[in-house]
Amino acid sequence: MLEVKDLEVSYGSIKALHGVSLNVPQGSIVTLIGANGAGKSTTLRAISGLIKTRSGSVTYSGEDITNQPAHKIVAKHLCHVPEGRMVFANLTVAENLRMGAYLRNDKAGIAADMDYAFTIFPRLKERINQAAGTMSGGEQQMLAIARALMSQPKCLMLDEPSLGIAPILVRAIFDQIVAINKERGLTILLVEQNANLALGISHHGYVLETGRVILEDSAAALLKNPQVRAAYLGD
Ligand code: ATP
Repeated sequence: MLEVKDLEVSYGSIKALHGVSLNVPQGSIVTLIGANGAGKSTTLRAISGLIKTRSGSVTYSGEDITNQPAHKIVAKHLCHVPEGRMVFANLTVAENLRMGAYLRNDKAGIAADMDYAFTIFPRLKERINQAAGTMSGGEQQMLAIARALMSQPKCLMLDEPSLGIAPILVRAIFDQIVAINKERGLTILLVEQNANLALGISHHGYVLETGRVILEDSAAALLKNPQVRAAYLGD
């Protein structure tokens, strides 16, 4: 569904990606793991059109979307939940969710998707009229994912959904990522520093180091790989 080939990205004179290639099959959960600064977020930003690539290509559902503007890529149902969540702090939960549906005008569909969001994250329903900026980090992450779902994504890219969140909420969020994948058939590309958790719910994984893919395998094999265990799983 999503294929990235030989992607090169620079910030000014600093090269962040040196030819990254990835394949995310339809219906799968694929994880990128790697240390700070490895280029995980940059890879997602380049796919979703937030930064320009110097060379390489991004193909989505058979279409070349390399360097297309971000709003055109969202309209193709490829949706990015960036690190740091970025909810609209002064808007309520309900208003944030409606913002996620801004490209739609199917009222019944929007209401049904809002109900689905409340089913997977009941906490959001309890807080429907609360300003998003006053919610906990974990609740804001739930809202960021739910808002993304309101745009009817076919492929969802999640950047560090566990960052700075209490373990009990992290588990709830990861369980719902699995549910979204299974129930809605959504393809998911996940970026995580918590390699154990991420590989535990993924089909396939890539290990990034200083802007290069150094290893790729099934998630189960990466969890057993001694090199991965030593570097990313704290062995
Ligand atoms: P983290 O887990 O810490 O978020 P990451 O793997 O997502 O790390 P990136 O954020 O993609 O890594 O960063 C890759 C490299 O690009 C790093 O060396 C970083 O310093 C650099 N970089 C990222 N954003 C910018 C920017 N806006 N301007 C200049 N350099 C940047």
